[in-house]
Amino acid sequence: MTTSNVKTRFAPSPTGYLHLGGARTALFSWAFARHHQGQFVLRIEDTDLERSTPEAVEAILQGMEWLGLDHDEGPYYQTQRFDRYKAYIQQLLDEGKAYYCYSSPEEVEAMRETARAKGLKPKYDGTWRPEPGKTLGEIPADRQPVVRFKNPLDGSVMWNDMVKGPISIANSELDDLIIARPDGTPTYNFCVVVDDWEMGITHVIRGDDHVNNTPRQINILQALGAEIPVYCHLPMILGPDGQKLSKRHGAVSVMEYHHDGYLPDAMINYLARLGWSHGDDEIFSREQFTEWFNTDHLSKAAAQWDPKKLNWINSHYIKNLNDEELVQAVQPRIEARNGNTDGFDVAAVLNLFKDRAETLEQLADSAMLFFAPFKEADEELRAQVLTSDALDILADFKARAEKLDDWSVDTLASTIKDTLNEKGVKMPALGIPIRVATTGQKQTPSVDAVLALLGRDVVLERLNQVL
Ligand code: GLU
Repeated sequence: MTTSNVKTRFAPSPTGYLHLGGARTALFSWAFARHHQGQFVLRIEDTDLERSTPEAVEAILQGMEWLGLDHDEGPYYQTQRFDRYKAYIQQLLDEGKAYYCYSSPEEVEAMRETARAKGLKPKYDGTWRPEPGKTLGEIPADRQPVVRFKNPLDGSVMWNDMVKGPISIANSELDDLIIARPDGTPTYNFCVVVDDWEMGITHVIRGDDHVNNTPRQINILQALGAEIPVYCHLPMILGPDGQKLSKRHGAVSVMEYHHDGYLPDAMINYLARLGWSHGDDEIFSREQFTEWFNTDHLSKAAAQWDPKKLNWINSHYIKNLNDEELVQAVQPRIEARNGNTDGFDVAAVLNLFKDRAETLEQLADSAMLFFAPFKEADEELRAQVLTSDALDILADFKARAEKLDDWSVDTLASTIKDTLNEKGVKMPALGIPIRVATTGQKQTPSVDAVLALLGRDVVLERLNQVL
């Protein structure tokens, strides 16, 4: 396999779970790397010590693994890279591309106020910015300085965004960004810049909530003498109501979808269509997606979360599971319901229900018809269905069934037919009473299949009970 120099990254801040927006960003970065036979890096941006938690890191790693978004490098942790950031801050200070700023937060707020009052963009006013011929004030005692980046004053920053097209921002719009706090710790944008550069990221694919950071990051990259990556800002995902995603719709951990019975392949297929398309194709495998994925068909418009479509896709993937996959996916859910599968052909039971299930949870619920302890129909249902006519029909069926050598869907189907012919009745006249008698329920999948799976002993015993 040839490898290209394409290198992308997913760089979540572990302040919460891996939610759908993050998962979609991760997917597109991953797919872009895979499409180009490049590298995919996972980087945990955990410098916000107050908001980052080990649980969130764990949840993100778990989510990535569940979705099958494997990385080639990392996970890197920014908190383990402080030395690198500090070295570059020092380099910028030494080269006069950054400076110590002793203004207090109150003073900076006052500068902003003054600018606002003049109808200007609220900014730091450059008090401590060194310029040729400028004398700086006296350094206040006991004040730890921040380090500010010396943003260019003139000209503009330009980039050709893979989604948004050419973007140009005037430098006069940009502040002298703080790159180190008074305690010397580097700030967010600076860490991202150093990492993207040192890790050799060629394409930065991220949510468009970061588009305002891009011109700042490009200026710092330029000051460091780094190559500028290609940027790709993905539009947001909105809820079905056109509003920001809410907890009810997608703003939850992807692992909740696992819990609720969605298959990772279905999730990937669904997420792939959020802001990207390939003609009218709706269902495609992971391999097909990475083969097709390019940035030409990324949408500029926000994508909309559609739970009904996700269910439709999920049901498609459930239908296509083979026996082994089906059992593997559903067995734990049956165990969680205290189901007893002893003596059952579990795959056959699940196959009976899988065409109607939108989630694995629904499938497990339905399959409990077989795996839960038998519960007789309640009295009302019995009185309504197991009339003397119905019992007469059941008795005829039982007499024939008892004689069967081979207890199978086919032999049971013809036994049912014989009873219907003998009694001159239609299917419901036998179908409903026999369901109620043998499963305690009026509605089940096809009767012959249900009887075949319940097995001869169970069926005859339950018929005896009602007769
Ligand atoms: N850490 C940022 C976030 O989780 C992403 C930064 C980036 O992709 O540049 O939103």
